[in-house]
Amino acid sequence: MPETSIRPFDASRAEIKTRVENAPGLLLCTDFDGTLAPIETDPAAATIRPENRELLGMLREMGDVRVAVVSGRALSDVRERVGIEGIAYAGNHGLELRRRGETKLHPIARKQKETIGRICTALEDALDGISGTAIEDKSVTATVHYRNTPEAQVPSVRETVDAVVSRLGGGRIHRTGGKKIFELRPSVRWNKGMVVSLLAADHEGWLPVYMGDDTTDESAFRAVSNGLPIYVGTAKSNARYRIPQQSDVADCLSDLVEWHT
Ligand SMILES: [Mg+2]
Repeated sequence: MPETSIRPFDASRAEIKTRVENAPGLLLCTDFDGTLAPIETDPAAATIRPENRELLGMLREMGDVRVAVVSGRALSDVRERVGIEGIAYAGNHGLELRRRGETKLHPIARKQKETIGRICTALEDALDGISGTAIEDKSVTATVHYRNTPEAQVPSVRETVDAVVSRLGGGRIHRTGGKKIFELRPSVRWNKGMVVSLLAADHEGWLPVYMGDDTTDESAFRAVSNGLPIYVGTAKSNARYRIPQQSDVADCLSDLVEWHT
């Protein structure tokens, strides 16, 4: 896919304002880590910025607005970290989806839960000798963190992960990457973009917005290509708008609150 020209959100405010004002409703979907919360060395320490929580709460209260947080974290984890009831949550890149008070699990993901558990147990042993790795069992997926691992040892982490997955995964689990992480997921064609499309189908005609900072967010940017795909960061992205700093996300949310009437 050719890279579309990405423009600063700040320099596009007039055009975005018009689109928000003219939209019959607003579907605001957002990633968590690196978007609502600053990236932390220890992923367990990631905390939503209070102003972002407050602004999402305000959006939830507005008419014709739907808020959804879409994360690679387990659903229970991201829901607790955001701490707002009455909005939609997608965990594990959408394999878990909670909306209208009901949680659903992708059927293939449900079947592979035990395999993921076995792989995590085996990885605890296999990665024991490599410093700085951490394994997070997220029930239907798993994450191997290597942010604190010396650069020279990262290839060994990758090789070890691949060996364990190929030994125990039965060809039904695959590895993907992210920011200083390897993710192990059931081999099912499902991503953030698909879950965002599912949410958008509930609100036809509304303006869909997606904010995210990582490669796994690109599918969601494509899903809202007719709306507002907003990339947070300075790297390459196929989103249409860019917010360079995570700390500026609150300004964008605040604009949406102001413009949606
Ligand atoms: Mg992120």
